[in-house]
Amino acid sequence: MDQRKENIVMFPFMAQGHIIPFLALAIELEQKRGCTITFASTPLNIKRIQPSLPPNSSIQLLEIPFRSSDHGLPPDCENTHDLPYHLILKLVEASRSLKPSFHKLVNDLVRKQHGQLPLCIISDSFFGWCADIAHELGVFHAIFFPFCAFSTACYYSIGMSLPHRNNDSKEFVLTDFPQASRIHVTQMSENLQGAHGTETLRKVVQDCLSIDGALFNSMGELDEAGLTFFQKTFGKPFWPIGPILLPPGTGSRAGNEAAIKAAEVCRNWLDTKPPNSVLYVSFGSQNTVSASQMMHLAFALEASGKNFIWVVRPPTGFDINSELKGKECLPEGFEDRNKASGRGLLVHHWAPQMEILSHKSTSAFLSHCGWNSVLEGLSYGVPLIGWPMASEQFYNVKLLEEEIGVCVEVARGRVSEVKSEDIVAKIDLVMNDTEKGKEMRKRACEVRNIINNSIADKEEFKGASVKAMDDFLNAAMLMREDAKRAP
Ligand code: UDP
Repeated sequence: MDQRKENIVMFPFMAQGHIIPFLALAIELEQKRGCTITFASTPLNIKRIQPSLPPNSSIQLLEIPFRSSDHGLPPDCENTHDLPYHLILKLVEASRSLKPSFHKLVNDLVRKQHGQLPLCIISDSFFGWCADIAHELGVFHAIFFPFCAFSTACYYSIGMSLPHRNNDSKEFVLTDFPQASRIHVTQMSENLQGAHGTETLRKVVQDCLSIDGALFNSMGELDEAGLTFFQKTFGKPFWPIGPILLPPGTGSRAGNEAAIKAAEVCRNWLDTKPPNSVLYVSFGSQNTVSASQMMHLAFALEASGKNFIWVVRPPTGFDINSELKGKECLPEGFEDRNKASGRGLLVHHWAPQMEILSHKSTSAFLSHCGWNSVLEGLSYGVPLIGWPMASEQFYNVKLLEEEIGVCVEVARGRVSEVKSEDIVAKIDLVMNDTEKGKEMRKRACEVRNIINNSIADKEEFKGASVKAMDDFLNAAMLMREDAKRAP
């Protein structure tokens, strides 16, 4: 079926880990499939996204009004990146208030297009309620998970059944998802352990019951168990279309203006380093470590003797938007010393991650293992040292370490005690010429090939993720054909 000039409305949750992959999907649908895209978000996020659109793009950005202070959040905070961790759930809850405005946006759009309906609405999984709005018009609705299905299945199953509550042991097996094998209570985010936020999770799941299908930013070949779990649980099609990533260069602008300069600084710095010699350290767009963990990590980076780029944000308990106060969280003179020796580069707040990971000097990635970061690293064959902090990150690390063999876990959580010598040992294991390190690097390159295969779009060969995208678009078109034929 011909998808050209079909309009698709997209609506991500307000977090960089959601907006970036949604934007990448929007660009893919526009530039490879010829669709026209309407991209909705709140005003400050639209402002942030605008400069990151490719120059030849005509993606239409539309604002949905939102005032964070009306919801008990600090003023002008419309993105998890600007919030301390404990307020993120509040933003999820506040985002339910966007429903009437999104409804109006879609109706206005249809009116402006003289009644012509969009082919589909792709919303975030936190906005499953978009299904009601789509179905009122007879339009297909899918959610896009910027996650892998395995980890989402673990998170969903634990959140819905809270197995640790009926179990004296610290470990459990998920009865509805035994493929995840044993899970330890320390592999549960703070809100699942304390069962806060499970009400929100239930509402989110309830809202998703009438979706027409879902897209996962993962690859069928590596994520089969999770995909089967969702297909069975929801009785809907789940298409693995990943990895959908922003081209290097676009992502750096998705953060803020300072990131454009940071890209140049990082590139120049990396250019001076030998191939495969740099450790990249980042905990994503919304997680931070504690001050004590930060101190131990700094000691470890110096003791390891490796070159490193470290994206630093103020630790837990400090104002997330403030400048880092060195003394409290970093060893005396740490930044200046490493700058002078040329061994370590600290990037404050936001780094051009894709540029760093795609650079030939980058050897390993110490990461919280948010799924976007995982995909970005593996797309360039970079093995991971996992330090999961929250949500489904614990299960990403489990999958990557136990099933795929491209990661070793170094620590867990945002408050636990860490020892710098343990961190050094894991850095050495992965970056030195150890058996394990060689095996992981080899496996990471194999996974890169699996990824490249799944997104290959040639006349003679179409990868599984490209076919999954075809199937999704065809399903949306079929629904429209059926609606037209209905009496
Ligand atoms: N990111 C970046 N620079 C940073 C921090 C994050 O470009 O300094 C991007 C990263 O490349 C990824 C996204 O932000 O695309 C973070 O998503 P992920 O799922 O890895 O983690 P989250 O931030 O959602 O926990």
